[in-house]
Order: sequence, then C-alpha cells, then structure tokens
Amino acid sequence: MEEIKECLFCAIASGRVKAEVVYRDDETLAFRDVDPKAPDHVLIIPLKHIASVSEMSDEDAPLMGKIVNTARKVALELSLENYRLVINNGKDAGQSVFHVHAHLLGGRLFGWPPG
Ligand code: AMP
Repeated sequence: MEEIKECLFCAIASGRVKAEVVYRDDETLAFRDVDPKAPDHVLIIPLKHIASVSEMSDEDAPLMGKIVNTARKVALELSLENYRLVINNGKDAGQSVFHVHAHLLGGRLFGWPPG
C-alpha cells in the first residue's frame, strides 16, 4: 500500500505533532522553532497547506498579510522591537519544510547581507 506522508506543519496545525504554540487564529498559527537560530525564533504558518510562496495563487495573496500581521502580534507579545522576518522559497534558498512559513527571529544582532 502506498504510504501517505503528511506535511509536518499540517500535522502541527492539527495537533498530531506537538509544538510550542504561541499564537493561533482562524487562518494562521505561530509556534517556536525546534532548532532556534536566535534567542526568539517563531515560525508563522497559514493553516491552509501551500507548499511554497511559488505555489501561491492570487487568491492566496491576502494570507501573506495575515502571516505578517501574526508576526507583528507575536513580536509585540515577546517585546521584540527589532526583528527579522524571513521566508525561504525553494531548497537552494534554504527551504526544508514545504508548507509556507515565515521565520520571526529576534533577540540578537543580524548581519546584512544575509548568508
Ligand atoms: P525552512 O528551512 O525555511 O523550511 O524552515 C523550516 C524550519 O522548521 C527550520 O528552522 C526547522 O528548525 C523547523 N522545524 C523543523 N521541524 C520542526 C518541528 N517539529 N517543530 C518546530 N520547528 C521545526
């Protein structure tokens, strides 16, 4: 029988995989990254499964505003005034989980340009 592999972030959204959730509303979810790259490292996902920014449709575009707005609320909750929002699109750009997500990174200095 063919094995159906569930998307990891869909499994977190449904509660089948545990995560440290910091915010949830009807369209987005925010949870702490399991391997943090900064003192505060939160991932913000849409509840709807979309593999990557490249896979988004025009109809999905408002979701990006929701994701950024959720990041803003989480940053406020964590008292972060300076932070970085990152979206990796595609393997060579660093994307390892193929469910759209923004990284909210804070609590340290960030260099520019990014690596
Ligand atoms: P990206 O490499 O941009 O696709 O980001 C995926 C992120 O998901 C990485 O920073 C991982 O550390 C993080 N990650 C992977 N598995 C989990 C998990 N089970 N819970 C929380 N974060 C995870």
